[in-house]
Amino acid sequence: MSGDRLLPDEWQRGPRYGGAYTFARCPASRDLSRADVAIVGVPMDMAVLYRAGARFGPRGIRDASGQLRPHGWEPDEIEAPFDKLRVVDYGDLDVFPGYIEQTMDHLTSEFKRIVRAGVIPVVLGGDHGTSLPVLRALAERHGKMSLVHFDAHPDFWPGPPGRPYHHGTSFRIATEEGLIDPAASVQIGIRGSLSASLIEEARVAGFHLLTASEFAARGVTGTLEDISRIASAGGGPVYVSLDIDCVDPAYAPGTGTPEVAGLTSREIVELVRGLPAASVVGFDIVEVAPAYDQAEITALLAANLVYEFLLVLAAAR
Ligand code: MN
Ligand code: MN
Repeated sequence: MSGDRLLPDEWQRGPRYGGAYTFARCPASRDLSRADVAIVGVPMDMAVLYRAGARFGPRGIRDASGQLRPHGWEPDEIEAPFDKLRVVDYGDLDVFPGYIEQTMDHLTSEFKRIVRAGVIPVVLGGDHGTSLPVLRALAERHGKMSLVHFDAHPDFWPGPPGRPYHHGTSFRIATEEGLIDPAASVQIGIRGSLSASLIEEARVAGFHLLTASEFAARGVTGTLEDISRIASAGGGPVYVSLDIDCVDPAYAPGTGTPEVAGLTSREIVELVRGLPAASVVGFDIVEVAPAYDQAEITALLAANLVYEFLLVLAAAR
């Protein structure tokens, strides 16, 4: 398929900080017939409960992604993902501020177009409400999925009656709608001022939940064993959702609801590298809010995590 390759702009030809506003200088395109992966922005933060600003997440991550070169960044692990994967930057989807139900419906139908074309969505949020329309679209094609969920929060709260949508209810709704199978799902990095009963509820629902302290004790290797055993053992579809607040605010301050004592940037990079490539049908990275960032460290981490995920997908080809 070499004649049909889609490559990022050559990185030494012009300045990496110049040119088109796309992820890692990938071609801007909505031609799904010539893509394996679509980078899709969802500039939405109308589901947040605390500090807004994740609507600028896609823009911040794309800006920071200018730093990326089109190969891996550890000398012994150089890969050329774009030789194996045709990656397009699909641009941002429309959202309608103030109208969350209409936005959710619109995003679901837009993601269905991408998924029906057999293209893997790699989604730049947006708050964590972003995951729900992606899961609804993917479930139409793949059925019930395993969830690998990195977050300080289980996002398993019940919404108030009649108002189900906020960024902390996504995986409760996804469970109720049968989009994900909690018994085949893992949540990593949970911490902060949460009630023990909420954590217990998620566990009773079936989630394999590792608090940040439990993760620290289990380590990266043990946690990857858990993911492999629980989420990818049956070879069923796996969705990966990465809330940047799983990472400690020392490494990722640019987010709406930071929680202290989280993962390091090294740990989250290693976890993403170890994901079960063959089974993954979609990925999102959410809750990057550039207005609270310092020196772009959060956006740069997010851009690198997307890139690491592309390496994982490429390795499975
Ligand atoms: Mn979240
Ligand atoms: Mn969170």
